[in-house]
Amino acid sequence: AGNSTGVASHPRSGESRPRFKGGSLAVSDLDMAYGDVEVLRGVGLTVRPGTVTCIIGPSGSGKSTLLRCLNRLVEPRGGEVLLDGESILTMKPEKLRRRVGMVFQHFNLFPDHTALENVMLALVKIKSMPREEARRIAEARLADVGLASRMHHKPAGLSGGQQQRVAIARALAMDPEVILFDEVTSALDPELVKGVLELMADLGRRGMTMVVVTHEMGFARKVADQVVFMDEGRVVEAGSPAAIFDNPQSPRLKRFLAEVL
Ligand code: ADP
Ligand code: MG
Repeated sequence: AGNSTGVASHPRSGESRPRFKGGSLAVSDLDMAYGDVEVLRGVGLTVRPGTVTCIIGPSGSGKSTLLRCLNRLVEPRGGEVLLDGESILTMKPEKLRRRVGMVFQHFNLFPDHTALENVMLALVKIKSMPREEARRIAEARLADVGLASRMHHKPAGLSGGQQQRVAIARALAMDPEVILFDEVTSALDPELVKGVLELMADLGRRGMTMVVVTHEMGFARKVADQVVFMDEGRVVEAGSPAAIFDNPQSPRLKRFLAEVL
């Protein structure tokens, strides 16, 4: 059962950190085009509550577009997306954005605001929350991502990894059922990648439903419950990390893995 903070206490004793109550996604027959350019062609995907789905595939295969359809930053041309059984295509966008968070490659933080203000702003503006309550939640989420001591810094005073943690804290603060991650470590200096991936793995262990577009095959193999390989706007193969990485079926996936592994 959920509560107003969206985090339930952990069923096992000795685990003090809150657990999330992740939602489910069911995507079927999703079509999307930019003008005449077809980008998604009948994409189907099932994401169980509290699981991590990694989406892999070559550049231009439609991974980002799929994520953008899942919180309607772009409108699909056809198909259906159910969030906990409810169509997102008829949902008010503001409601959808509260329930499905997104973290981007380039953080998208406001440069003139501190980390704390960046997280608070979303709560005050999108959730119409009183500032004091927003501050309390923002402080807690920033502490969650290891930034308790940095919350009064502006983005320019933080490392790329810390900025990405702020963006993740901002997504968490909305108390979402699902978080979408689009290549969130691709712009980071190599030494900062591991910490952000560890934070994401931790969110997954705590029951957040996550859809993660990534080039980090090690992360996909270790953390994903499901790996989805896309090419040319289609899901070519989906399965467990072992099935996808150790026993690929299609020539296209074999070729892709030979290039990236
Ligand atoms: P990926 O994230 O897998 O690299 P994208 O979803 O970004 O793939 O892009 C899929 C295809 O859609 C590409 O051919 C890309 O050029 C095209 N595309 C992406 N965004 C736009 C846009 N805003 N306008 C027109 N075409 C786009
Ligand atoms: Mg992309």
